[in-house]
Amino acid sequence: MDANDPKVVRKIRNWTMRIDRDLCIGAATCIALAPKAWALDDEAKAIILDTSAEETDNALLEAAKGCPVMAIFITDETGKQIYP
Ligand code: SF4
Repeated sequence: MDANDPKVVRKIRNWTMRIDRDLCIGAATCIALAPKAWALDDEAKAIILDTSAEETDNALLEAAKGCPVMAIFITDETGKQIYP
C-alpha cells in the first residue's frame, strides 16, 4: 500500500493520523476504542476509515494509546509528534 494512501495516513482536524502496517499485529484494540476510525483489512492489518473524523480527538488518542505495539502515530499541524 502506498505510504500516502488515505487508508494509512489521513488528516483529521488538526492532527495527522498514521498507521504503521508493518508494526500492526491486528490486535483490534484501536477498533474497539474508536470503531468509526479503524478497521482490519483482508491482511488483518488496520486501515483508516472514511468515517474516522466522526471520532473525537480524545477517542483517536485513546485508540493510539491502546495499541499494544504503538503502530498508530499522531502528529499535529506543526509536525510535532503527539503520540507515541
Ligand atoms: S490496536 Fe494496533 S495492532 Fe491492533 S489493529 Fe489497531 S493498529 Fe493494529
